[in-house]
Amino acid sequence: MRRTHFIASLFVFLVCVALLLHSSGRRNADDITSRQANPEAASGRIVKKLIRAKRHMVVAAHPLAAEAGLEILRAGGSAIDATIATQLVLNLVEPQSSGIGGGAFLLYWDEKSKNLKSYDARETAPAAATPDRFIPKDGSDPQWHTTVHSGLSVGVPGVLRGLELAHKQYGRLPWARLFERAIQVSEDGFTVSRRLNMMLANMGAEAFGPVARAHYFDASGAPWPVGHVLRNPQFSATLKTIAREGAAAFYVGDIPAAIVEKLKVAPNAPSDMTVEDISGYRSLVRAPVCAMYRSYNVCGMGPPSSGALTIGQVLKLIEPFDLGAEPLATNALHVIVEAQKLAFADRGRYMADHDYVRVPEGLLDHGYLAQRRTLIQRDAAMVKAVAGQPPQRHARTFGRDGTIERAGTSHVSIIDGDGNAVSMTTTIESAFGSRMMVGGFLLNNELTDFAWRPTDDEGRPVANRIEPGKRPRSSMSPTVIFAPDGKLWALTGSPGGSRIINYTLKTIIGMIDWKLDAQTAADLVNFGSRNGPFEVEAGLEGAGLLARMALKGHVGAPKPMTSGVHTIVVTPDGLEGGADPRREGVAVGD
Ligand code: GLU
Repeated sequence: MRRTHFIASLFVFLVCVALLLHSSGRRNADDITSRQANPEAASGRIVKKLIRAKRHMVVAAHPLAAEAGLEILRAGGSAIDATIATQLVLNLVEPQSSGIGGGAFLLYWDEKSKNLKSYDARETAPAAATPDRFIPKDGSDPQWHTTVHSGLSVGVPGVLRGLELAHKQYGRLPWARLFERAIQVSEDGFTVSRRLNMMLANMGAEAFGPVARAHYFDASGAPWPVGHVLRNPQFSATLKTIAREGAAAFYVGDIPAAIVEKLKVAPNAPSDMTVEDISGYRSLVRAPVCAMYRSYNVCGMGPPSSGALTIGQVLKLIEPFDLGAEPLATNALHVIVEAQKLAFADRGRYMADHDYVRVPEGLLDHGYLAQRRTLIQRDAAMVKAVAGQPPQRHARTFGRDGTIERAGTSHVSIIDGDGNAVSMTTTIESAFGSRMMVGGFLLNNELTDFAWRPTDDEGRPVANRIEPGKRPRSSMSPTVIFAPDGKLWALTGSPGGSRIINYTLKTIIGMIDWKLDAQTAADLVNFGSRNGPFEVEAGLEGAGLLARMALKGHVGAPKPMTSGVHTIVVTPDGLEGGADPRREGVAVGD
């Protein structure tokens, strides 16, 4: 018995060593590939401590942004007020990830009325958009770089309409007050961080439009160095207008006119976006999608996000399995990864903007998931799962989706002194979005979250095809979790393209099954499958995991998996906040 154990351990050790040698030997090739394929690169791990607070808390991707939110909470602002101040500063200090030129999903818990709402501020396609938008005239394959850095990729921004709607309903401080810190930071400047400098260097000056290039790079094309004080007077002017006149100033008048003008002369291909597309933008309040998991109610954003449905499917699929008390045991990982394959197969087939295609309601159906669960075998790994046949037959004709998703997003978690809470994931899609700047902010490239081809290989229409006014399918998963006693328990979410879903799942399972605190759950090595290979975070721990999973038949390779999980947990002793060690975020509170 002992001897078998020793041989198994030796095998695991040897596989680990082999994988490490393999990954270091491949470093150059991998670096180049990951630079092209995953612009949201890692900034190196920063050890972070669990932060405790009694009254209120903000967890966001940059210290200046988190402090801006905290300042508003201290001034008596609500969680929504603090979110607005945080978002505006993020636009400046983490410009690669989010801003007023992009979109967001915001979950808001109102403690007094015990009401959970989700705000959809996702970008929309222009009225003139057609399903073959990205396909070159000669029918050849669209090129990623030229499509992102073009007018075609830019959706009508939604962030400000969403924030304004939430502020009208739950704001406490005047709208203009929430802009003060961001205006001051744009005028006085902030020091360029290691991560921002690295991301600019990775991207290269030539990837940007001329205005953005002149803002983020010196005349020789070198990115501003770490510590450089970066001011943005143009953004200050934009903010002052919107502070004074409300979000309407972003949607009607000079700002939309400037956006449309810019897009007409965009590099690679102009856009057909009109000022009417912008003035017609509406943020929507939608019902959140919830799934009970081990008596916790896990709620998130429904379509056009695939986040909550996919997370809900995985949680319900794994619920009957005992994942053990020890984090990351091989049997537990195997079950989670197999469930992820099944859920991602359904995601690819059925999930899109529900206002345009009928997403089957039965995706979280008990009987359906029980039948899907039978596909999870204890000791064999699926190569690729096929989508199931959920109730509501109309959806079965959808084609397989080839949507490409990249990483460039931010998650904010906030609780105010009255117990109201916000979990918001906000994005301009790729790192630095379309890389075109107008009014001191970057425009998104969110439309590349649509399927690039409207039909699959068998000629079936893809649910996530481009249509006029439609919102591209997202993976953003702002999550609010309620404890078995029904009280607000946790807020979490992450950036990371379609890996957002697995990063968020890791955190939820880490906290509920393995009883980890907010920080330890964020620290946990990233792993998962998006119905392809087994993906694991590069590094010693990841290599160990890969070797163990290989024994169950899982095949994959270590990758940079730069999550940005920002979590708050409500405990009997107060609030606990955790910020992902892979980015520059912090938890702050009183
Ligand atoms: N645009 C992606 C989405 O909405 C998010 C990209 C990212 O996380 O970086 O799902």
